[in-house]
Amino acid sequence: MPRREPFIADSFPEEAPLKRHLARVFTVLLFCIPALAAAQNASSSVPPQVAGNPKTQLTWYGHAAFKLVTPSGKVLLIDPWITNPLNVTGKQDLADLKKVDLILISHGHSDHVGDAVEIAKRTKARLVTSFDQALTYAQHLGFPADQFGLDSVGNVGGTLTFFDGEVKITLVNAVHGSSFTVKEKGADVPYAAGNPIGFVIAIKNGPTIYHTGDTDVFTDMQLLKSMKITLMLACIGDHFTMGPERAADAVALAQPGKVAPMHYGTFPVLTGTPAQFAAALKAKELLSRYQSLQIHETLDLD
Ligand SMILES: [Zn+2]
Repeated sequence: MPRREPFIADSFPEEAPLKRHLARVFTVLLFCIPALAAAQNASSSVPPQVAGNPKTQLTWYGHAAFKLVTPSGKVLLIDPWITNPLNVTGKQDLADLKKVDLILISHGHSDHVGDAVEIAKRTKARLVTSFDQALTYAQHLGFPADQFGLDSVGNVGGTLTFFDGEVKITLVNAVHGSSFTVKEKGADVPYAAGNPIGFVIAIKNGPTIYHTGDTDVFTDMQLLKSMKITLMLACIGDHFTMGPERAADAVALAQPGKVAPMHYGTFPVLTGTPAQFAAALKAKELLSRYQSLQIHETLDLD
């Protein structure tokens, strides 16, 4: 600002009153336009990140479904079963998803593919998963085939780069199944959908998030320690995945800064609870890493 005064004075000499008046108007505009623009941004639908909040934001929809918004405003959905039974506003939340850039699917079970096809058709989001999964979703579920390619699908061990490097997603192992069923002529027909995976999502100058997908604990999780995970999203429901005790073992191996429980309570058989998980972490002196997370809660991540 101080540098603008000499510029105005130089351009509009003392002896020209009209010019001096114009100079004042010009000066006022210089000061006001940014303020007006900021006010407009704040009241529009522009994500708060674009308006100056540089943090990455993570929102939980229940079960294994999350939304991640990057500092530049890119929107990633993970296992987007937005209309899961735990989410009482699921239909509205689904309708509200108007801008989505990437949809990540960990495996073919319907509680993870969820609402992906509908969202993809509406938003033109690209599919991030393993090549095998992508092909079967396109062939049998109607996922738009032109919304994935070598830019967005890979396989375990590979890292995919998006948005000029702002987001890097490494596909990692999960120990689980990956079939899905489609109603064909009134009967449930099963299809294989590649191998299940998890995701390590690294945001440039920001957090690294590990979504386990559905999995048991496995010793190779210790290899993720070197990826310096900020927040691990760990399934704890038991029955189909690791329960609280084994999820605590997984935390001991992967050594994330924080861990939030997911994939519990959606169905009666998913009996693991956050309290049991916290107790299991405490027994391993890992309780300080526990991150509580409520449905619809948004975490600001550094
Ligand atoms: Zn599953």
